[in-house]
Amino acid sequence: MSASAAPEQLDALIVGAGFSGLYQLYRLRQRGFKVKIYEAAPALGGVWYWNCYPGARCDTYGPLYQFSIEEVWKDWDFDELYPSWEKIRQYFEHADHKLKLSQDIRYNTRVNNARFDEASCRWQVETENGHSASAQFLVLCTGIGSKPHTPDIAGLDTFGGRCLHTARWPQEGVDLKGQRIGVLGTGATGVQVIQEAGPVAAHITVFQRTPNMALPMRQRQLDEAGKRALKVDIKDKYAKRARTRAGYDFDYLDYAGPTCAGMSDAEIRARWESHWQEGGFVPWLGNFPEIYVDERINLMAYEFWRDKVRQRITDPLMAEKLAPTQAPHPYGVKRISLEQRFYEVFNQPNVTLVDLNETPLVRVTHAGVETVGGRVHELDLLVLATGFDMVTGGLTAMNITSADGITLRQQWQHGVSAYMGTMTHGFPNMLFVYGPQAPSGLSNGPSCSELQGDEIVGLLAWMRERGMRRIESSAEADSAWRKRIDDFAAGTLFGRAQSWYMANSIPGKTAQMINYPIGMPDYLEQWREVKAADYRGFDLR
Ligand code: NAP
Repeated sequence: MSASAAPEQLDALIVGAGFSGLYQLYRLRQRGFKVKIYEAAPALGGVWYWNCYPGARCDTYGPLYQFSIEEVWKDWDFDELYPSWEKIRQYFEHADHKLKLSQDIRYNTRVNNARFDEASCRWQVETENGHSASAQFLVLCTGIGSKPHTPDIAGLDTFGGRCLHTARWPQEGVDLKGQRIGVLGTGATGVQVIQEAGPVAAHITVFQRTPNMALPMRQRQLDEAGKRALKVDIKDKYAKRARTRAGYDFDYLDYAGPTCAGMSDAEIRARWESHWQEGGFVPWLGNFPEIYVDERINLMAYEFWRDKVRQRITDPLMAEKLAPTQAPHPYGVKRISLEQRFYEVFNQPNVTLVDLNETPLVRVTHAGVETVGGRVHELDLLVLATGFDMVTGGLTAMNITSADGITLRQQWQHGVSAYMGTMTHGFPNMLFVYGPQAPSGLSNGPSCSELQGDEIVGLLAWMRERGMRRIESSAEADSAWRKRIDDFAAGTLFGRAQSWYMANSIPGKTAQMINYPIGMPDYLEQWREVKAADYRGFDLR
């Protein structure tokens, strides 16, 4: 579609064509809304368009990393338990084909300005390519990892080799073979890049600030019988997502039990041993709930993980860096990654691990990365696996302005208050899915996109049935929601780690629990109560 002068007239404009945006499109369209998605990328898939770096794959197993829409899942199978980015892209094409999504998506259309006009009670939206729209509702589905974070490093622009952020990886790919590669960052992305690059690089230098408490993925290739087996009870599994803390098809009740009180340490460790064999997120999300609140149990869990990992690392000095004797932070309160051969890479002779706490990074030079003491690590390729301005970055990157002329960036400069993780006072008719103060980053993405997404679709349909045109969360409801989250988080160990969960992993953000930490069932219960009280906390007209 080409840019046009007259604003496109819509009931709802969705920003972003990842899981949450596509689900909104599908459901709102079913309810008779005139709706479009504006998407910056030339294709659908959200993060899976941008994150095509080597080794990028999903940490959620395939059947749960899909829409629960039967028309889509019934004739789709992933070929591995944990699908690669290539296969997930194919999945989105399949979903597009089934649900005819692209006919209502404007690609290559980045929203840069949106202003609410009180007189017409509509959002006026402008895009980078000159297109514009007028929509009654603005539904933001920019995801939690859409604004890459590049640290402010001296000399970065003087680097003579190639410097790439993982989330802006060239679509045509990059040959890593025979290169001297530096990887800055050991989060979920860094782990995947390192285990992929390690075996083929001439040399790999890993710059680590905080060790990742990564767990074995236990990847499996799926034959036809394996694929069929994963579809057994799939409807029950999708239904169960609403009843588990993190929106998966399992919870601590399935693997650990409601508490470890009364169990001996040996019994607890025996349970953990079976979790370890199970792999995936089971040793984390299937663990006893005490790991989030009880320092002793948490430390035991850390030590269990540490001792398992150290068995795989031959050099004791390397082992101490990757799985230190003293826990760098409590176990499980920072995003855990799944790895396949990550630790074995550090047994290779062509790998250097730089502990940035011991030898901080000074600058990037033409030749490579210089650390304290004057050592320059010479590189051909510097990979920035430094993550994102998580959860809020995609939202505040746009110039979204309230009727009073306040931008969303200004509104949230001292932290986010967002009622039901869905609206913020002063920004009527603007709703966000899978964003701040919803389960989002503490849940499986497709689950939150659908379960919160259904609530939003239901709310807009409810308004339409009553002839209502304007909705705004009250300032009191926003504050109470934030307090609910802050109070809960204060009773946990989450605040003891620097992490994007606490919005304090990159400079300049206000530290706060940025997701809804009380779990999916409680979150949905809040919606039930709010609905039963005619959407209490929202001002509706
Ligand atoms: P991340 O988890 O935020 O990790 C960023 C890494 O860069 C961390 O190791 C961080 O160190 C380091 N870093 C940042 N600034 C730095 C600086 N100035 N100097 C040195 N090191 C610095 O980002 P990510 O790995 O891209 O992952 C973000 C999220 O995306 C994940 O948590 C996950 O939700 C999602 N994701 C999922 C998958 C998957 O499912 N497989 C894959 C990739 C990403 P510190 O830890 O010390 O801050």
